[in-house]
Amino acid sequence: MSSSRRTFILRLWIASLCLLTSVAHAQDVAEVPDAVRENVELLVHKGLEDTVGYAFVRDLTTEVGPRLAGSEAEARARSWSTQKLAELGFANIRTEPFTIPYWSRRVDRGSIVSPAPQNMVITALGGSTSTPPGGVEAEVIRFESMRELRAASSDIVAGKIVFIDEKMTRTQDGSGYVMAVRKRRNCATTTSEKDGVACLIRSVGTQDRRFAHTGMMSRSTAVGDGPAAAVSPPDAEQLTRLLENGPVRIRLDIQVEAQSEAPSGNVIAEVVGRERPEEVVLLGCHLDSWDLGTGAVDDGAGCGIVVGAAHLIMSLDEAPRRTIRIVLYGAEEVGVLGGHAYAKRHADEMDHHILAAESDFGADKIYRFDTRFGEGALPYARAMQQMLEPLGIAPGHNLAGGGPDISMLPELGVPVVSPRQSGWDYFDLHHTPDDTFDKIEHSKLNQNVAAYAAFAYLAAEMDWDFRPSTGFGYKNRYRPKAAVSPSWSVREP
Ligand code: ZN
Ligand code: ZN
Repeated sequence: MSSSRRTFILRLWIASLCLLTSVAHAQDVAEVPDAVRENVELLVHKGLEDTVGYAFVRDLTTEVGPRLAGSEAEARARSWSTQKLAELGFANIRTEPFTIPYWSRRVDRGSIVSPAPQNMVITALGGSTSTPPGGVEAEVIRFESMRELRAASSDIVAGKIVFIDEKMTRTQDGSGYVMAVRKRRNCATTTSEKDGVACLIRSVGTQDRRFAHTGMMSRSTAVGDGPAAAVSPPDAEQLTRLLENGPVRIRLDIQVEAQSEAPSGNVIAEVVGRERPEEVVLLGCHLDSWDLGTGAVDDGAGCGIVVGAAHLIMSLDEAPRRTIRIVLYGAEEVGVLGGHAYAKRHADEMDHHILAAESDFGADKIYRFDTRFGEGALPYARAMQQMLEPLGIAPGHNLAGGGPDISMLPELGVPVVSPRQSGWDYFDLHHTPDDTFDKIEHSKLNQNVAAYAAFAYLAAEMDWDFRPSTGFGYKNRYRPKAAVSPSWSVREP
């Protein structure tokens, strides 16, 4: 076949494929009545001008500040939110308490002892054990990846401080985190299995400033298998340069406080549905944060977004048919414990959970709308996606996982959506002292408020059923983690 004929056939094939897809697409978008469409447009318009969501994250991070899971500050955040939600006019405001193992840092210091004594900027990882008082000093052994550490023999690791110098890739969808976080979770366990004395990782983050990123490591009780810390990127570079010249000794002094039980809880508030109040569209975020910053992008912003969106829906002339429930989860950072506590407590009501979404990826704009619906419900997904187009949001795929605290809901048959925010800058701030309110842009946050209000209202007002007829194929895989007993096991955050 000549190349021009091949090109012609290829063009014809592409053209017919486009035509078929567009016909199928046009046929497969669910009808939205004019009155509902007008309300959605009104919500989008008002969402872009909203002040409630922005004020919520501003005041939470200012008046409460950091909100470590299980701490007095997290308890204060629950009271603060309860009061604020009441002032905003929400109904059925309540806290659902549960207990969690508690961990907090007291001291975390690191330094190079030889050959060139100097300070390092480090932060203890959540779940780290304490070193002996005054710290532990040992020679450093460097690995370029978690995989390299796993492959190393105990002979070369024993008695040393392991240093994993693996960098994280910056991506829009945050996929670099999935890879990079493995070293944070597993470094201490693998180090201890090989008789190393402590573990130091290059921070799981994308910035190159002189501060470190904390975060949870794997553990089976309040603490894990050894002392573990993250080091700032410039200090990781410094350590690497020194190691090129010969042996380096460092000292890590980590002192922590741990208890088997401390109080946490989920704060819940509702806009009660006018026709079927028992049917719930759930919008989540997490109220706890790490202790280093004020938890503004992680996840004060998410709470501002869902509070702002639900408040907008409340301001319509009449409530939607179904209930909008906002859940401000506790103890997400330390093992998604609030998410598990909710799933366990509401296990019998999952059939009434129509749809769930969680905002936990900062305050940047949403660029894509992913769903996890039954095949038969895809026309509803497309209708939602069409109504989000004016906000610059593109249609996504149907493999959404929801957010961390709702990640177990599809296993319980509940459809979820993932409005995907740009994560390009998120991991510059994530779990650092730099996660503060000044990083949030009001107009970007409002694009989120508008989008959440739009799709949540559609889900609550229309009679749509998003479930697959035969479930999502998990066959009851989910087993509630005993988040409320000391013998729980951690599901990775
Ligand atoms: Zn988060
Ligand atoms: Zn986090």
